[in-house]
Amino acid sequence: MSFMTKLSNVAKRSLLKILLLLVVLLLASTTLLIMKGEGRLRTALGLAAKTRVERKQGGRRGQPKPKTPTTTTPKGNPDSFIESFEIGKSVKGRSIKGVRFGRGGKKVLFLAATHGDEYGGEVADQFIDYLTRNREAVPKNTEIHIIPRVNPDGWEDVRRGNARKVDINRNFPVDWQPQVGLNDDSAYGGCTPGPRPGSEPETQALMKLLKKRFTRVISIHSLGGIIDYDGPGEELALEMARASPYYLVDPTDYSGNSSGSLGRYVPKTYKIPVITIELESDRLDRVLDALLVAIRF
Ligand SMILES: [Zn+2]
Repeated sequence: MSFMTKLSNVAKRSLLKILLLLVVLLLASTTLLIMKGEGRLRTALGLAAKTRVERKQGGRRGQPKPKTPTTTTPKGNPDSFIESFEIGKSVKGRSIKGVRFGRGGKKVLFLAATHGDEYGGEVADQFIDYLTRNREAVPKNTEIHIIPRVNPDGWEDVRRGNARKVDINRNFPVDWQPQVGLNDDSAYGGCTPGPRPGSEPETQALMKLLKKRFTRVISIHSLGGIIDYDGPGEELALEMARASPYYLVDPTDYSGNSSGSLGRYVPKTYKIPVITIELESDRLDRVLDALLVAIRF
């Protein structure tokens, strides 16, 4: 008779349970050791926390985009239909790129990914692709300028602020406050308004660009499914809302923080409207008609 057959059924079951437990413990401790050894444990925990923040803040899912953009920026000379340009550099020296379509006196500026954890960059890329393939969408005597990543450092790191954790949209020299309000999304995103108004290279690049005297500015954010406006933009915002599944928010009802914001800076400085779209996804088709209204209006 072998040893095993001598054991009672109860004893066999107990032995099996102990063996299973030992295997589980061994696997768990090995995994922990490997993660700790390679510094992955903190990263894993940090990533988990970050994902939660992203969902709350902007909604851009997943990990930073690959270094090479999915869109190939169209090139051309200043007189051609399409021209690519640079408006400045980020804190980390990344190029803040732009693309212009068409030529003319009416100038529409689209800004996206001011907050690097939001969907605007994806939609701006798709819009650039769309206009590259559909030149007839650009009316005569109209220029469309698109900056797909105002905040390239934040975009790479999937972070709201720039590399110094400054919220570009609280850094403009208009009613600037030294601290963000407690109920401000910026505070949840761990951002500051910067050490002084207009302190950040990304803000300075936009301020310089805005001197080109645009007709209107369309600022693309997420996550909300709404359209709102600052300055003389009520009619345009209403038309854009009608062309989209989003609803128009009356700025007097909107409790969003605006100290140091683009939406306050641009109308005050240039007397032109800023229309803000709060995307609800990274799909251009949801907002394409609204964007086309913004260039035809
Ligand atoms: Zn935003």
